[in-house]
Amino acid sequence: SDSLLKLVHYMQNSVCQSRDQHTALLAELSQTRTQLAEMKQLLEASRQEALFDNLTGLYNRRGCDEKLDNLDNDAIHTSLVIDIDRFKNINDNYGHLVGDKVIQRVAETIEHYLIEDDFAVRYGGEEFLVLFVNKDKSYGKAIAENIRHAVTELKLKHKKTNAYLPSISVSIGIAERPSGVEWSDVFNDADKALYQAKSSGRNRCVTA
Ligand code: GH3
Ligand code: MG
Ligand code: MG
Repeated sequence: SDSLLKLVHYMQNSVCQSRDQHTALLAELSQTRTQLAEMKQLLEASRQEALFDNLTGLYNRRGCDEKLDNLDNDAIHTSLVIDIDRFKNINDNYGHLVGDKVIQRVAETIEHYLIEDDFAVRYGGEEFLVLFVNKDKSYGKAIAENIRHAVTELKLKHKKTNAYLPSISVSIGIAERPSGVEWSDVFNDADKALYQAKSSGRNRCVTA
């Protein structure tokens, strides 16, 4: 009976031990789950960072490429290239932080005119690209004119002095993409039109 008692003790111990192990495993599992959720969040955050510009929240170039890849190639799309006029002056006179603020306000203005699947990209420092999905040149022209006008109406107050900044403006090149044409050709056309808008006096829209 002594050995029987020993056996019972042994079994009780085993049960306790395996219960402890079970609890430990559960704790480990829950910790792993938390870690996995954290990693998912990090992954999503870095995905966001990879596709979006963090000053404006618009798509960056990579985000733009991804969006373009997913467009219907048989449809007609229209693109705008938008560049802030004499932006260097804003930086030089008021500093980079104010310059950044101006970029943000222009980005907000552009976004205001997007509907449906249209999207905007911060393509360079003070350069933006807009894609009108399934819309033709005449639609693009009308919206470009709205954006151009709205930017001239922006009131930007300089926090330090409480004075308003001189009004800002943008120049815009417009190009339509017929089905089958390479995006690079369309953007080149829009860029050429933008150059014309700049050289003919700025604060205007030119269609390729
Ligand atoms: P234009 O009318 O011909 O476009 O003249 P511009 O002065 O706007 O053109 P330019 O390309 O000479 O100057 C663009 C300036 O934008 C130069 C650069 O220092 C500034 N810039 C680029 N990226 C940023 C940014 O992220 N923040 C700020 N504040 N400035 C930037
Ligand atoms: Mg500029
Ligand atoms: Mg520029």
